[in-house]
Amino acid sequence: MKKWNLVIDVALCENCNNCALATKDEHIGNDFPGYAAPQPRHGHHWIEIKRRIRGSDPMVDVAYLPTTCNHCDAAPCIVAARDETIRKRSDGIVIIDPLKAKGRRDLVHSCPYGAIWWNEELQLPQKWIFEVHLLDQGWRQPRGVQACPTGAMRSFHLDDEAMQAMALREGLETLHPEWRTKPRVYYRNLHRYAKCFIGGSVTVVREGVPDCLAGAKAVLRAGDKPIAEAATDVFGDFKFDALAADGTSYLVEVSHPEFGAAQQAVELRDQSIYLGEIRLGGNRELFLGGMK
Ligand code: SF4
Repeated sequence: MKKWNLVIDVALCENCNNCALATKDEHIGNDFPGYAAPQPRHGHHWIEIKRRIRGSDPMVDVAYLPTTCNHCDAAPCIVAARDETIRKRSDGIVIIDPLKAKGRRDLVHSCPYGAIWWNEELQLPQKWIFEVHLLDQGWRQPRGVQACPTGAMRSFHLDDEAMQAMALREGLETLHPEWRTKPRVYYRNLHRYAKCFIGGSVTVVREGVPDCLAGAKAVLRAGDKPIAEAATDVFGDFKFDALAADGTSYLVEVSHPEFGAAQQAVELRDQSIYLGEIRLGGNRELFLGGMK
């Protein structure tokens, strides 16, 4: 049996908000009986884009994370509803019944992802319905997917086995798998939002002037083991990404056959770390920049 899934590539989301606007365009002022009552003009974000800035000047990046109802296969909201007020369709879509849910403000707090919004005027809990009212009419994708200009958001109608194989093959992740809700919304490059990096900029002095050093080798060690290796780019920059901010202690080693080596211990707590300028050569085999 084929079911709907959403795959979001965090590295491709540009925060244009087209997905969120297309969803609002579909639902604000429009009633779809059996699927969803109209979304209010203000206050609801059935697709909500979160932002995270990592690093420090000049090594800074920003990631955008579109979030919405995950259409969980083990949905806490369905358990909390206790009846057919919220149900899972055989195609994987979770629907809050717009008639039965009237007055059920308690359901807003049943979603651990914060994906359910309260419509004060209609006294209804509401959320994104995957535009399943359109899919039932033969549409091939929800409005938000259709509106995404970068291909960051894509929908897939696959049986569970095929979806799991894709997730494994492409390294897709879900939000908070430890909650065991079995989301049907998957993310590619989730580390851009959820994990940290350690980076630095390697320089040497040439003819009395500091210069970026391309092609230096940077090695990241955890304990005695090298766990990642990178070469500096034309700006002398290197970056080790997708590191958990869990207090792990690392050693960063930078070396170049012509200019020598330097190293520094780093503890990654809750934020990405830019080590600053690392000067190789001469007597300055020390990191010059501070940790941020
Ligand atoms: Fe229910 Fe929240 Fe899961 Fe959506 S994300 S199915 S609202 S628990």
